[in-house]
Amino acid sequence: MKTSLVCGAGGFIGSHLVKYLKMEGSWVRGVDLKYPEFCDTQADDFIIGDLRDQTMVDRVINQKFDEIYQLAADMGGAGYIFTGENDAEIMHNSATINLNILEACRKGNIKNIFYSSSACMYPEHNQLDPNNPICSEDSAYPANPDSEYGWEKLFSERLYLAYNRNYGMNCRIARYHNIFGPECTWQGGKEKAPAAICRKIAMVENGESIEIWGDGGQTRSFLYIDECLEGTIRLMRSDFEGPVNIGSEEMVAINELVSIVSKVAQKEINVKHIDGPLGVRGRNSDNKLIFEKLGWRPSQSLEEGVAKTYQWIVSQCSLETEKNVIP
Ligand code: NAD
Repeated sequence: MKTSLVCGAGGFIGSHLVKYLKMEGSWVRGVDLKYPEFCDTQADDFIIGDLRDQTMVDRVINQKFDEIYQLAADMGGAGYIFTGENDAEIMHNSATINLNILEACRKGNIKNIFYSSSACMYPEHNQLDPNNPICSEDSAYPANPDSEYGWEKLFSERLYLAYNRNYGMNCRIARYHNIFGPECTWQGGKEKAPAAICRKIAMVENGESIEIWGDGGQTRSFLYIDECLEGTIRLMRSDFEGPVNIGSEEMVAINELVSIVSKVAQKEINVKHIDGPLGVRGRNSDNKLIFEKLGWRPSQSLEEGVAKTYQWIVSQCSLETEKNVIP
């Protein structure tokens, strides 16, 4: 039986990935600081542990896994990574996790590791025009990410590639572009735009207003979780090292995303634009390389993914209301 380790298995993508690997019939160990928030883990073995601690990492990686998926990171949406307040922690925590995991794999002679990088490593100067952002893989250098989160991702990409070169490892690197779906963080400050907008719209009545950071003209693309898992597994089991984008090419302005969620919610919504952390002006996945190398491209529209996510967030809002009503 295939054995897999998912680091960050208590998080959004990690907990979905555990389910996917279990459905395939693998034996799965998960590790995280916490259990998944919105479902019981499906992992055969789940270790609560801090991957910043090398001794803990050595305990977690104490057998020969066929595949290791490294998704653990100190991360969040714009309200967490673009304010500057969390920069030192983000860089220190995530870099330490990656350094520790690679060392444990080198010592244990484990070769196959998937690393989740981010589109946040692309240079800011190529993402100023909201209609024509450049995010092809070869545009990464000269480097100029707009956040320390992006710089850490770039450093860790290079670290994984160095281990490939120097120790004959087969690390695979994906640059994820805004992954969303049910069971993602939807409140508390670490949520991302699709979940935040779904929550805001779920919580107002028809005809009321929601607040949006900036003028809403900033563009992004969003990839539904199931598509992300499909791309991730294909990359992991290919002979293509990456780094490669895993994202959607359906770019929308944040104002358009509000319209899509409003349509799904069947509500007329007014938007009040306020100051807030924004990130780059435009960003879109460029899927030429992944299609050429792996024959992969997303299969569903943004609206289809939003519909599933909105329903789930509505159910979370109802649960939250019930909790507050019960004394
Ligand atoms: P997430 O925050 O839901 O999951 C990350 C998990 O890592 C969390 O459960 C957290 O508890 C865990 N973690 C953090 N520090 C840890 C530590 N010291 N020890 C053990 N576990 C620790 O994030 P996600 O959305 O599931 O993202 C997964 C990966 O994909 C991350 O590396 C992230 O940077 C990357 N990524 C995600 C997106 C996205 O849109 N979700 C986009 C680009 C890149």
